[in-house]
Amino acid sequence: MIYLDNSATTEICEASKEKMRQAFENFANPSSRHFAGIRARESVESARECVFKALGVRNAGSDRLIFTSCGTESNNTAIFGSVFSKKRKDGDRIISTDSEHPSVENALKVLEKQGFEVIRLSTRGGVLDYEQFEHALNDRVILVTLMMVNNETGAYYDVGRFFSEAKRKNPDTVTHCDAVQGFLKCRFAPRKICADLVSISAHKVHGPKGVGALYISGDLIKRRLITPYLHGGGQEGELRSGTENTVGIAGFFGAVENFEEHLDADIQKITALRDLCAGLSELSGARVNKPEGEWAPHIVSITLPDIKSETMLNFLSMKDICVSAGSACSSHSKHLSASLLGFGLGERDADCTLRISLSENNTSEQIYEFADALKEGIDRLVRIRK
Ligand code: PLP
Repeated sequence: MIYLDNSATTEICEASKEKMRQAFENFANPSSRHFAGIRARESVESARECVFKALGVRNAGSDRLIFTSCGTESNNTAIFGSVFSKKRKDGDRIISTDSEHPSVENALKVLEKQGFEVIRLSTRGGVLDYEQFEHALNDRVILVTLMMVNNETGAYYDVGRFFSEAKRKNPDTVTHCDAVQGFLKCRFAPRKICADLVSISAHKVHGPKGVGALYISGDLIKRRLITPYLHGGGQEGELRSGTENTVGIAGFFGAVENFEEHLDADIQKITALRDLCAGLSELSGARVNKPEGEWAPHIVSITLPDIKSETMLNFLSMKDICVSAGSACSSHSKHLSASLLGFGLGERDADCTLRISLSENNTSEQIYEFADALKEGIDRLVRIRK
């Protein structure tokens, strides 16, 4: 198989599997007070320290990192937890983008129904509209939630510029970044980008599905600008109740433990594969939706010449090549991708757009094979239509 759907999920790496095997043995509840529970607690805390480091946090101080069940839960906790915090009686405006992942967009829709005003910044051409943002900022803004890397187009947004301006205008505005696609693909640190909250997910970085994390700044906790989303036994420092997924957390640990040893080389390799993939896709007859601003290293969006993405996906699938027609998380819905429409594609083009997403496990030979299959598919499918 040639797996080019790494933004949907990645293959679990050996280090992650090994840590999970150990965690299966060490099965005690980390809240238990006996020696086995203490050992399980120690594993969870080592994992926390390691994921913190991978997030660019060397000296956590009062900053916190809580484990969640996925990126979706991290996003929902960040959004509902900040909007409904005890202090939030001072505004009703939320600023986001027109291309967020459904785990942000659908949470915002719920808030809109409850009377909050949501302003969605344009991401046309893969560029986040700063002028529109400046006009939207006022002292009623309670939350700015922006993704770092668009999961369908690979557009990278310079969220730090937006967050720092929001904080300058009103220090009580909470800043949240959905960094699920940016984590370990783009170098950043929460404090450097002025983010109070950052969401990440293990299965996008060669860890298991069903575990994510949310960074929470110490300042947010001190000023009581965040409230729990899940209530119960008070685990995760009272910020996320529920017995910890010790096996999943161990898998997250294994996936990121030695990231520093290979991150730069991985990013370099994936970037080269991305450029090869974009160039060959164009030669095969597709159009590349290249962001006008910065471009994340692992996602290539291509529009086919009047061939539905679903048709091409099936053609490639028969050749053991896995790509995606839009984001995996929204591909079950019939709606056209908001990210592609936001990027500026018309409805027809959006329906003919494929996403190829890479990891360091891919090779240039695989990209050549994919491009040959793509060309064959375009030639054959266009002929059938005529
Ligand atoms: N945010 C973005 C940008 C994503 O791409 C995804 C998943 O594709 C998520 C959030 C949700 O992450 P999870 O699958 O861990 O819930």
